[in-house]
Amino acid sequence: MFVGHYAFGLFLKKKFREIPLWTLFIAVQFVDIIAFVLVLLGVERISYRASDNPFLRTSIDYVPFTHSLIGNSVIAGIVFLVFLKLKGRKWGTVLAVAVLAHWFFDLVVHVPDMPLFHGGAKVGLGLWKYPLTAFLFEQGLLILAGYYLLRGAQHIKRHVILIVLLLTGFSVMFFAPEAEATASQASILSISLYSVFAALAYWCDRRWYRASSK
Ligand SMILES: [Zn+2]
Repeated sequence: MFVGHYAFGLFLKKKFREIPLWTLFIAVQFVDIIAFVLVLLGVERISYRASDNPFLRTSIDYVPFTHSLIGNSVIAGIVFLVFLKLKGRKWGTVLAVAVLAHWFFDLVVHVPDMPLFHGGAKVGLGLWKYPLTAFLFEQGLLILAGYYLLRGAQHIKRHVILIVLLLTGFSVMFFAPEAEATASQASILSISLYSVFAALAYWCDRRWYRASSK
């Protein structure tokens, strides 16, 4: 899943205003960020696969550390312990839920390529097999979550820009002509995009905090 993960970040932001949006944005994509780093290090593996379906152009070959249910749970557990120590129980719990939810959002869209545990059965409900439905599903999640977060709020221009950029970026990915990318290129591009969206989320929050401290 792509921008649908950010929908969950926006949802959590509404519930827990004290946690910065950029932190939530990194948390919901945390296992993907680690996965792409591990791909660059040669530990996990993805590869290019020619396909008319933009969602199936990345073959997810070996991702047991980040995208198995056990692996993702262990990472969420570590995040919980770190933030429990640094910021207290609420931060630890919210960020661990954000990290773990990634697996369940991915489960909906992935074809069966996510193992339950290292070497275990691979699962995935396969919404990506219906690309237009999958595309509209993710865009719809993001719009709904954005509306939920911003309804009745003031100073939302930056958030609207962020959400429009996410919707646009995902549309470009979906409608762009097929381009072969190596695993390293795909990893660097993805990590860069996650960084840009986290930076934009920081830019949104700064406006909100300044506005509310006036
Ligand atoms: Zn993922």
